Amino acid sequence: MKTETYRVAKAWNATHDVRAYRLVPENGAAMVGYKPGQFVMLHLPPLEAGKPDERRAYSISSAPHESELELTIKIHGNFTQRVNREVVHDARVGVSGPFGVFCPDFSKEQFITMIAGGVGIAPFMSYIRHATHYKLPNKLTLLYSNKTFKDTIYYHELQELEKKNPNLMVMFTITREEPPSDWRWKKSRFTTEEIVSHSTGGLNNTHFYVCGSTEMCNAMTKQLQEAGVPRDRTKQELFGNIQ
Ligand SMILES: Cc1cc2nc3c(=O)[nH]c(=O)nc-3n(C[C@H](O)[C@H](O)[C@H](O)COP(=O)(O)OP(=O)(O)OC[C@H]3O[C@@H](n4cnc5c(N)ncnc54)[C@H](O)[C@@H]3O)c2cc1C
Repeated sequence: MKTETYRVAKAWNATHDVRAYRLVPENGAAMVGYKPGQFVMLHLPPLEAGKPDERRAYSISSAPHESELELTIKIHGNFTQRVNREVVHDARVGVSGPFGVFCPDFSKEQFITMIAGGVGIAPFMSYIRHATHYKLPNKLTLLYSNKTFKDTIYYHELQELEKKNPNLMVMFTITREEPPSDWRWKKSRFTTEEIVSHSTGGLNNTHFYVCGSTEMCNAMTKQLQEAGVPRDRTKQELFGNIQ
């Protein structure tokens, strides 16, 4: 698939170690057409002449109706440190895609539960922004887990979206420290019983989407399957070994 050049229209700190970017196609080229939940490959120039571009997969956190492509990137290893240095306001980057099938069918899936760990919130921002923009009737539950409060991405925006969208329920948890004193959500991992009780369609009618580190996704999917959720109603997007 062709790699298009995008300009970095905006870059900001989403948390202490997550950067967010708004990208626009260069020279009036068309924006990539995508479905909520898909990802793109972000390309940076090769480190040595004659080598291929360096590239990694990033979920799209904007929604298809928006004029910019938003990516939400946790800075930790070699590639993302390069992103942090080089993907700055007004820089040019390569983008190819979209790819992936981590996409709900909003016309058929009435009850959708999203379970996110850390930067695994990225594709769910696209689902939620899309459903809220089009006032979709789908009942959405977001269960969003982070180790510490300062790791929680989109904390304020998610609460604003919840106010705008009567069909969205957001539940945060902080698992490794005491949250702020006015915290009104959970302080430990979500249990299977809690996941099921917060899922409006219950065990039998909910479609479950899980996104985050490979370890978190596999553990959560196993938990759901042990509770009796059929395999074809659980989808996961593995981000790899992201801590
Ligand atoms: C579908 C999908 C969506 C993702 N979405 C997001 C997202 O929204 N936000 C986010 O922060 N992360 C996301 N990730 C993870 C992201 O793709 C990178 O793996 C992550 O940013 C690693 O960065 P790093 O700086 O640690 O990389 P490095 O330290 O450079 O690499 C970490 C390890 O990954 C290997 N690796 C991973 N991908 C490639 C590749 N394409 N080519 C060569 N080696 C590779 C490297 O060999 C190395 O062992 C996603 C991953 C997938 C598969």
